[in-house]
Amino acid sequence: GKVLLTGGTGFVASHVLDCLLDHGFEVVVTVRSQEKGQRITKSVDETLGKQVSFVVVEDIAKEGAFDEVVNSDPPFDYVVHTASPYRLHWEDPVKDCLDPAIKGTTGILQSIHAYAPTVKRVVITSSSAAILRPPNHPKVYDESSWSDVTWEQAMDPKHTYRASKKFAEKSAWSFLTTHTPSFTLATINNSYTFGPIPRSLASLGALNTSNHRIRDLVQGRMLRAGIPPTAPVFTYVDVRDVALAHVRALTVPDAGGKRFYVVGGFFSNPRLVGIVRRRFPALEDRLPPKEEEEKDDFPEDYWGFDNSRSREVLGVEYRGLEESVVATVESILRFEGGG
Ligand code: NDP
Repeated sequence: GKVLLTGGTGFVASHVLDCLLDHGFEVVVTVRSQEKGQRITKSVDETLGKQVSFVVVEDIAKEGAFDEVVNSDPPFDYVVHTASPYRLHWEDPVKDCLDPAIKGTTGILQSIHAYAPTVKRVVITSSSAAILRPPNHPKVYDESSWSDVTWEQAMDPKHTYRASKKFAEKSAWSFLTTHTPSFTLATINNSYTFGPIPRSLASLGALNTSNHRIRDLVQGRMLRAGIPPTAPVFTYVDVRDVALAHVRALTVPDAGGKRFYVVGGFFSNPRLVGIVRRRFPALEDRLPPKEEEEKDDFPEDYWGFDNSRSREVLGVEYRGLEESVVATVESILRFEGGG
């Protein structure tokens, strides 16, 4: 099978790419520049090189951005759409975040519908942000829950990102009800994601947002500044499990029409410090003091999660926190050491 994978430079996408290649797919990734495309093709093992190529899509928010890209020879069987901005600060919430998230999503669905009738399944990377509804938490979250963030709230940069994920996913499902495309849709609603940093990363300064706290810890920033509060999210998932969920969601017939809450377990920043202290004694002089690590800020009345759909339908088996953190730290140390 042949897959179009958007946002190829991304943290999640780099693992989806590896997982697709492992499963024998041919993959075309979209990136924003030639230079970025070349970094990716170079990062892939030579024996798999023939299975990967890239196309440049500079701005996913632009009307018709994917029209030419989806029309490929041989034609695509599947599409995975991961590209979407994920940062904590925005100058212009609409232009910088909401437009690319929402128009990028509806745009690619329109292009596939118009020009790529061979596509059977589209998987979109949504987020747990489209599920969680602070402060109205149920006891246990599952796929039946939707964020209740409003467009007005989205104008406040604090809420822009999570709103972008909700509105993007909503618009994808509503596309499916207002059109009758050849493809079915599944969304992966992954939680806060840790895991090995992309081999194609240009610098640790360009690292994706959800790995910042582990990077900062390893680079000694919590020694100087203290352990930052964990809130608001206390659930994590390993990126390799997220990648497998995407790949399975492409091919498992029953996955069509479903969202998947992909979450591995609970964490807190003090617990991250504890794991790094125990497993990487050589980093001791970069870590905050043990007394600080013992002040766990994990809330006692925290809500639960139900990830049974992802386990049952997609067959995902979740990695534990320690395994995920150790692999993340190892990848950062490898990168610091020059690869
Ligand atoms: P990254 O920042 O590593 O990846 C984001 C990707 O989107 C990059 O390839 C980026 O390109 C691309 N992108 C962003 N804006 C645009 C745009 N306007 N036009 C074209 N491409 C664009 O983050 P992640 O890998 O973490 O995020 C990937 C997906 O996973 C996103 O949809 C995110 O919302 C979702 N997600 C992530 C979670 C996490 O904790 N990491 C949790 C839940 C969901 P470039 O590199 O050129 O900037």
